[in-house]
Amino acid sequence: MLTQNATATAPAAAAAPIDPDSMICYFEGRFAPLREAKVSIMTHAFMYGTAVFEGIRAYWNEEQGQLYALKVREHVERIRNSCKVLLMADIPSVDELTSLIVEVARRNGFRQDAYIRPSFYKSTRAIGVKLHGLEHQLYVLALPFGNYVDVDTGIRVGTVSWRRVQDDALPARSKIVGAYVNSAFAKTEAMLNGFDEALVLTADGHASEGSAENLFIVRDGILITPPVSDDILEGITRAGILEIAAELKIPTLERSIDRTEVYVADEAFMCGTGAQVSPVIEVDHRAVGSGAIGPITAQIKDRYFDIVRGRVPEYSHWVTPIY
Ligand code: PMP
Repeated sequence: MLTQNATATAPAAAAAPIDPDSMICYFEGRFAPLREAKVSIMTHAFMYGTAVFEGIRAYWNEEQGQLYALKVREHVERIRNSCKVLLMADIPSVDELTSLIVEVARRNGFRQDAYIRPSFYKSTRAIGVKLHGLEHQLYVLALPFGNYVDVDTGIRVGTVSWRRVQDDALPARSKIVGAYVNSAFAKTEAMLNGFDEALVLTADGHASEGSAENLFIVRDGILITPPVSDDILEGITRAGILEIAAELKIPTLERSIDRTEVYVADEAFMCGTGAQVSPVIEVDHRAVGSGAIGPITAQIKDRYFDIVRGRVPEYSHWVTPIY
């Protein structure tokens, strides 16, 4: 039985227990049940965290009887960039990778929301910390998946003592598996301190992001988010929110955010593939705005959830119909 995040609200898949072993994945060049996808403990990625990955959501649209994958091409472009950073060459083209990811989802026949995870990993079985001169392999797995954090009532966030990895130490812009230990430190500290999510600061004390979400605040009607040079993952949801804001004529600003600006913001939310749009109602024991979900957050969140389920024709370029 696969467990999801302890704070997650009831997943869409709650009715049926999930047996991950029976899911179809792509592994070492073929489609196979997950139970057959095994690597050696000598695998470089297992020993040193030398792998990159993506988390992609697919949304089930009940009215249309249709499964939509969200922003697949953007995820494919980002994983190809992550591969470049980790010195992995000869990566399949955007079109090839996109079709493979769609095919894995299709073979699982989901009639519920799902999560698709492609990953390129250094597969050479060898001791030796380095990036060059190593083989890599690709896997793509897919699982049913519900809400990762609470999107309905708002989350309580706490600043953690762990700082975000710096670009010149372990680049946050690439989704590197080993870097997620930094996210794990942050998330666990926040949760053990009684919060739902972490606010992680950069080494120089600016708000960077959550453990796996980008941050937005609203001040005087302006939607503000940290720039890509503040040690954030260049979030695909973040880019989508900026697109929605432009459509809704909400002014936006990408600039550094001080910790206490979040305290005095009118509204705040975190966003990501997993977290979707999660309103932040409290930070470090201070109510954000009125302590309820703010109007701009609500407007963006509603639009987002309609778009991702393929209900908004103007945004059909965000979603890839799988079947
Ligand atoms: N920051 C981090 C550290 C993340 O892991 C994620 C989730 N991928 C995000 C931000 C949000 O990125 P995206 O919207 O592309 O999922």
